[in-house]
Amino acid sequence: MKRKGTKYSSSEIQKYESMREHMIRDQIISRGIRDEKVLDALRKVPRDYFVDETYKSSSYEDRPLPIGSGQTISQPYIVALMTESLELTGNEKVLEIGTGSGYQTALLAEIAMEVYSVEVNTSLYEKNRKLLKKYKNIKMSNHDGYSGWQEYAPYDRIIVTAAPDHIPQPFVNQLKKDGIMVIPVGPSSWNQILYKVIKQDDNIKKIALCGVAFVPLVRIK
Ligand code: SAH
Repeated sequence: MKRKGTKYSSSEIQKYESMREHMIRDQIISRGIRDEKVLDALRKVPRDYFVDETYKSSSYEDRPLPIGSGQTISQPYIVALMTESLELTGNEKVLEIGTGSGYQTALLAEIAMEVYSVEVNTSLYEKNRKLLKKYKNIKMSNHDGYSGWQEYAPYDRIIVTAAPDHIPQPFVNQLKKDGIMVIPVGPSSWNQILYKVIKQDDNIKKIALCGVAFVPLVRIK
């Protein structure tokens, strides 16, 4: 996998590896994430690859960072919590809405069988498509993800990383029975709840996980 920006020396690679180990211990395991598949993926995927040059040295800090176009790469703990909440075994087909930096997409590709990722912003889509090329199990699309991605539905899991003010019906329709969706929902960035949604026979079960602050899910009219 090629890093964004300039080449690193071997001491820089070691520096980032050590920052990654600290992040996993101090931000992820310490807050209760236990799924070994998630922890392994966090070890394998260099978060600094997905962060622009200006913020590289902050790649492993306990916060979201700007990725351009007014968007952000999510805080590492939230990425880990969302991934663990999907309860992946390795055989799943996953739909992701909001590719953003591509970091979450790469983690999913390390664990799941197939990843379908939708990004509405064309410049982010172009930039991250190149970065994710090494993963043969990722398919990407540049469209308004409010409608999900019907072509490959249904999905075992859905993960949404931009917040709508309600759960979009297309997501529920495209989720398999007993499938799990993780989605932030709320009217504004300071008033959102992260839900784990389980699809049952003719209804959904919603479990509130925590308060979060995601960018809004935009709609293309
Ligand atoms: N998981 C990403 C989060 C990026 S921020 C990361 O950690 O990098 C949310 C992303 O959702 C942004 O890239 C934004 O452009 C995208 N987004 C917002 N509304 C969308 C929509 N309707 N369809 C698809 N992507 C959308």
